[in-house]
Amino acid sequence: MELSIDDIKRLEEAGHRPVEFALIDDGVTRLRNVDGWCYFYSRAGKSCRVYKKKPLGCSLYPVVYLTNEGAIVDETCPMGHKVSEEKLRTKAKILEKLLKKIDIERVQHAKLLMPVDTIEIKVNQKDPSKK
Ligand code: SF4
Repeated sequence: MELSIDDIKRLEEAGHRPVEFALIDDGVTRLRNVDGWCYFYSRAGKSCRVYKKKPLGCSLYPVVYLTNEGAIVDETCPMGHKVSEEKLRTKAKILEKLLKKIDIERVQHAKLLMPVDTIEIKVNQKDPSKK
């Protein structure tokens, strides 16, 4: 699931570390998977541990975006048949806006996912060319 800065900050404010729940995969910031499951999925409880704070993309599911097809209902979702044409159109508009926003935010994502100790090291490093 792709993440926006709003998603990352909301989850961080809820006490989760971006460097643990997100990763940048081929330039795209996504929720991290652990053993094939979303980082936030509780297998014991069979539920989302951040349901009220979940990423916007999760709220839009089962509407997903495919490069060659645009917004569609994910055919692997068993509840996909319940999505009406109107709902698909509404969610598709929100999803397209979200993906454009995420695309613009890419550089900022890398900074948000940088571990705090790495940031401190960079701040304290002296430029060897300046003596
Ligand atoms: S709804 Fe929750 S468990 Fe499912 S993908 Fe989104 S964050 Fe992960």
